[in-house]
Amino acid sequence: MYYGEIKKVDIANGPGVRVSLFVSGCTHHCVDCFNAETWNPRFGQEFTEKTKEEILEALAPEHIAGLTVLGGEPFEPDNQRVLLPLLREVRERFPEKSIWVYSGYLFDKEIQSTLPAGTVLPPDKAVEALLPGEGVNVLIVESGRERAEVWYRCGTPSPRAAGAQKPEAQGEDAPAEAAEQARARRRAMLHRAIDQAGDDLMSLSPEKVVIRLGAPYRSAHCEVTEDLLSLIDVLVDGKFIFMEKDLSLQFRGSRNQRLIDVPASLAAGKVLLRQ
Ligand code: SF4
Repeated sequence: MYYGEIKKVDIANGPGVRVSLFVSGCTHHCVDCFNAETWNPRFGQEFTEKTKEEILEALAPEHIAGLTVLGGEPFEPDNQRVLLPLLREVRERFPEKSIWVYSGYLFDKEIQSTLPAGTVLPPDKAVEALLPGEGVNVLIVESGRERAEVWYRCGTPSPRAAGAQKPEAQGEDAPAEAAEQARARRRAMLHRAIDQAGDDLMSLSPEKVVIRLGAPYRSAHCEVTEDLLSLIDVLVDGKFIFMEKDLSLQFRGSRNQRLIDVPASLAAGKVLLRQ
């Protein structure tokens, strides 16, 4: 793993005075990214044992509230593998200090999901698995035969999508009614995508129809993800979306991003936001 910068006095990326590590490598390529040079996984310097010691030393003073890891994309699997020993050691040496991580991946979809591209799902499950604001190729297979492949953009309001008011913002933590509306919008847009392909998925028997998530569908989950999540206090998730940019927000750049209480969310099995 490479990193672009270590800030030893950072008050912008989490509560209190923090040490921040900006890792390199990011494949999200958000429009108006604040740190585009870190997209290159070889940007900056190599992260070594010496770097780890430097961070641990910077965390030692009493006035330092904790460590924040951002980037770049800390949850690119190659970065996760290097970050795990670092976060373990931070947790061990400084149990009273908090660990915050920023990720463009969604906690409950791309980070926790173990669904790789090519996964085959029945329509209802596919509607749940698709990502708000993301496009995927959906391959419709009936009785083992490929019927159509459509480009499906999920969660983007369309005048033709029934009930579309505004994009889903709070995911599973939204009130039940809002979550149901978001689901209805996704379903409506799936119908529309299928219609465009000259098919009507929902009129076909659900037992016969499956949806295969196409290549752009991504999961950041790897063999160390669960261990890494268990060490994080707060995850700020979601890509920076220029249209949702709001300078008045604390610790995040756009309204779609969520400040997730990771231990509480893992215990509850659903997304719980930091209070
Ligand atoms: S996730 Fe962060 S670093 Fe990556 S492109 Fe988006 S804003 Fe830039």
